[in-house]
Amino acid sequence: MKDQNLSAIANEFGSPVYVYDAEKIMFQHERLTNAFSEIAKLRINYAAKALSNISILKLMNKMGSGLDTVSIQEVKLGLKAGFDPSKIIYTPNGVSLEEIEEVTKLGAQINIDNLSILEQFGARHPKVPVCIRINPHVMAGGNTNISVGHIDSKFGISIHQIPHLLRIVENTGMNINGIHMHTGSDILDIEVFLYASEILFDTAKHFKDLEFLDFGSGFKVPYKEGDIETNIEELGEKLSKKFKSFCEEYGRELTLAFEPGKFLVSEAGQFVAKVNVIKQTTSTVFAGIDSGFNHLIRPMLYGSRHEIRNISHPEGKQRFYSVVGYICETDTFATNRRISEIKEGDFLAFSNAGAYCFTMASNYNSRYRPAEVLWYNEKAHLIREREDFEDLLRHQVEMNFDKVEA
Ligand SMILES: *Cc1c(COP(=O)(O)O)cnc(C)c1O
Repeated sequence: MKDQNLSAIANEFGSPVYVYDAEKIMFQHERLTNAFSEIAKLRINYAAKALSNISILKLMNKMGSGLDTVSIQEVKLGLKAGFDPSKIIYTPNGVSLEEIEEVTKLGAQINIDNLSILEQFGARHPKVPVCIRINPHVMAGGNTNISVGHIDSKFGISIHQIPHLLRIVENTGMNINGIHMHTGSDILDIEVFLYASEILFDTAKHFKDLEFLDFGSGFKVPYKEGDIETNIEELGEKLSKKFKSFCEEYGRELTLAFEPGKFLVSEAGQFVAKVNVIKQTTSTVFAGIDSGFNHLIRPMLYGSRHEIRNISHPEGKQRFYSVVGYICETDTFATNRRISEIKEGDFLAFSNAGAYCFTMASNYNSRYRPAEVLWYNEKAHLIREREDFEDLLRHQVEMNFDKVEA
């Protein structure tokens, strides 16, 4: 997918627009699969919350991926996209027992991350196989300062609670078929990840009927050239070795599972917006675009850095800009960013816009959510229409104050 394609798409479908490159998604999937080619039973469960458009889910299903979900709605989207229920894992946090029971009826693999629900679920459904999410509480030593699943995290069952967990399993007679961890942090230090894996293996030894071990995700992707990223190939080599020797010791060949979101879709996505106005102030030059944090909230929410290119005039002289949105409160995408000289009407492309961008978009300021386009087989395919005025009013109930009785 080239920048000319992006400009053409923005002209055809209007701006702002999200564009996803299917080839990049497939490439990342293959890269991860190849890194673990030593493993006989490998499962990649795409984390749907990163980008949950039905056509993206269908693409994942077509590639042979499974699905990691965090809500019953994501499970239903997965089923609608054609996933076999057995290939959907449901890993919620803080949801009700009722929702978990409903998902059980849909046939997805249940993953439970607290003892209270585990005890209630086990008492009511002792025959339903359940995976448990542990929190390994791993802290990197020295000055690397990378923490994995810290002690005050709300996720997972603490490994210090294993004795209590075992008592629940024994008393209910429930069947634990998987152990899971998802630490949530960017994995830069592979040794730290491998250390957390050892804790997963140690936990696994307590259970006789396991079918899979799920190592979650948290792979770091590059945001700009030369950026540090998880060395997937090195991780594959080292973790496969440990996994295989664990399976030998355990006495059975287990499935090794991952659930990447960012790794599969982050770099595949580009967000294209148009520059409405160039505003010189005494301190900076603002480039104001026809979008805002209502469409791409990550820079404002947690300071994520998206590369920004001027795709209309890429050859211009490099100048410093503050790129801002049209939302009526502070709405900054980037400050002091070097970009090829921008003219009003130019299209800017934001990189790494595949994961947690559209899925976090809102109608704030009563703006429409953008269209989504999939670049597949060298062609642009519209996979979501831009919203319109009707969409803003959908589900609102208009009162007629003249007819309200006293
Ligand atoms: C969000 C999430 C993921 C995906 O994380 P990435 O960093 O996008 O790869 C995987 N598993 C669970 C349980 C999640 O909540």
